[in-house]
Amino acid sequence: MAAPIVAIVGRPNVGKSTIFNRMAGERIAIVEDLPGVTRDRLYASADWLNYDFKIIDTGGIEIGNEPFLSEIRGQVEIALEEADVIVMVASGREGLTEADEVVAKLLYKTDKPVVLAINKVDNPEMRADIYEFYALGLGDPFPISGSHGLGLGDLLDEIVKHFPDEAAEQEDDAIRFSIIGRPNVGKSSIVNAILGEERVIVSDIEGTTRDAIDSRFMTADGDEFVMVDTAGMRKRGKVYENTEKYSVLRALKAVDESNVILMVIDAEAGIREQDKHVAGFAHEAGRSMIIVVNKWDAIDKNTKTMQEFEETIRTEFKFLDYAPIVFVSAKTGQRLDRLPQLIKDVDANHRKRISSSTLNDVIMDAIAVNPTPSDNGRRLRVYYATQVAIQPPTFVIFVNDVELMHFSYERFLENQIRDSFDFSGTPIKLIIRART
Ligand code: GDP
Ligand code: GDP
Repeated sequence: MAAPIVAIVGRPNVGKSTIFNRMAGERIAIVEDLPGVTRDRLYASADWLNYDFKIIDTGGIEIGNEPFLSEIRGQVEIALEEADVIVMVASGREGLTEADEVVAKLLYKTDKPVVLAINKVDNPEMRADIYEFYALGLGDPFPISGSHGLGLGDLLDEIVKHFPDEAAEQEDDAIRFSIIGRPNVGKSSIVNAILGEERVIVSDIEGTTRDAIDSRFMTADGDEFVMVDTAGMRKRGKVYENTEKYSVLRALKAVDESNVILMVIDAEAGIREQDKHVAGFAHEAGRSMIIVVNKWDAIDKNTKTMQEFEETIRTEFKFLDYAPIVFVSAKTGQRLDRLPQLIKDVDANHRKRISSSTLNDVIMDAIAVNPTPSDNGRRLRVYYATQVAIQPPTFVIFVNDVELMHFSYERFLENQIRDSFDFSGTPIKLIIRART
C-alpha cells in the first residue's frame, strides 16, 4: 500500500524543484481545478520502471524566518523522517560549496540510503567536473541536468535500487484510515479518545518503522483498524512540525496510505482554505471520506444549528457531497463511538462491486426518465455500462460519441447510480468511452 518516498534535499538554487518537476512529470499532486485550492508543489507521485513512488521537495517547505543553517537542518530532518531514499542535489556549475558540505554532514547521521546528484551538468564536457564531489563522502556522484532532462534515467535506476523490499509488505484485512485537518481542530484529542476506548493491538510486524507511526486497534465487534500516521499528531515541538506546509505534507502522505479519510473541522473556528486544499487532494486521490465536525460541545445550539452547519459544509465542499458528516466532541466523547462503524461502512462502499446487469438496468431506466441530450440533430446513445474498478468504484459507459456526453448528463447518471446503490462516503468515477 505505502509507496516508497524519495526526498530531495540540498542547498537553495541547486535545482531541486526543477528535478522534482521533471520526475513528477504531469502528475504532480495538485488540485488546482477545485475552487479555493492552491497549487502546491512539494509532494508528487512518480514512477520509474515498475516502481510507483512519491517525491518530496523539501526545499518547498520553508521553515520561516530561520537562518540558513536551521532551515537546511529542518529540511534534512524532514527528509530523514519521511523518506526511504534521500537524494542530495549539488550543482556542477557552481562546484562544491561549503553549504553542500553542511548538508552532507547532516546526512551522515542517517542509515537511510543517500544518492548524490550533481545537477546542471548540461553537456558531456562538464562531466569531468563532478569528481570533486567524491569529497562529500556520499559515494558516486550522478551527473544530471534537470532543465535538459539528462542523466535522470541513471539517477532513477540508482534510486529504485534502494527501495525497501516489497516482500516486507504483508496482506492485511485491517481498514486503514487517517485523521486529517488543520492544526488545533482536535485531531490528537480524537485520536486519544478513540485509542482510549478501543483495544490497542501491539503490532507483531517486527522491525518496520510503521509500528511507531501507525496505531492498530480492534473494536468490540472484532473489526480491525489501522490509524495511519498517528505519530504525526501525537508529537509536536520541532520547529518544522508546526509549519503549515509540513502539516499539509503529513496530511497528503496520510491520505496516500489510507482508504478512508476523516477530515476534521473545528465547529468553533469554522472552515478555512487549508481544509479545502487537503480535502481536494483526498477527493482527487479517490479516497473515501467522512467529515467530522469536532468541538460540538463548545457551540451554542438550537434545533437548527446542526442543519445550518451542514448546509455551510455542503456549500463550501461541493465536491464532497458524498461524504457523511458527523458532529462530535472529543472533549465529552459525544458520538465518537459511531466512528468505527461509519468508517467500516464507508470502506465497504469504497470496495463495492455492482454487477453489469444490475448496473445496466439502472442506466437504462435513467435514460427512459431523462432522455439523452442531442447536439445538431445527433443524439447521445448509451450502449452499455460496466464497473471496471473499486477503490474508488469506477464505471465505464460506452456511448456512440463522447462529445455528446454533457457534464450535466454525466452528473445525472452518477446521481442515478448513487440513488440506486449505497456509495455514501466514496467518490465514484465515470469514464465515458466511444464504442468501437
Ligand atoms: P532549488 O532552489 O534547489 O529548488 O532550485 P530550482 O529548481 O529553483 O533551480 C534554481 C535555478 O537553477 C533556476 O534558475 C533553474 O532554472 C536553474 N536550473 C535548474 N536545473 C538546471 C540545470 O540542469 N541546468 C542549468 N543550467 N540550470 C538549471
Ligand atoms: P490538533 O492540533 O488538531 O491535534 O488538535 P488538539 O487535539 O491538540 O486540540 C486543540 C485544542 O482544542 C486543545 O486545546 C483541545 O483541548 C481542544 N479540543 C479538542 N477537541 C475538543 C472538543 O471536542 N471540544 C472542545 N471544547 N475543545 C476541544
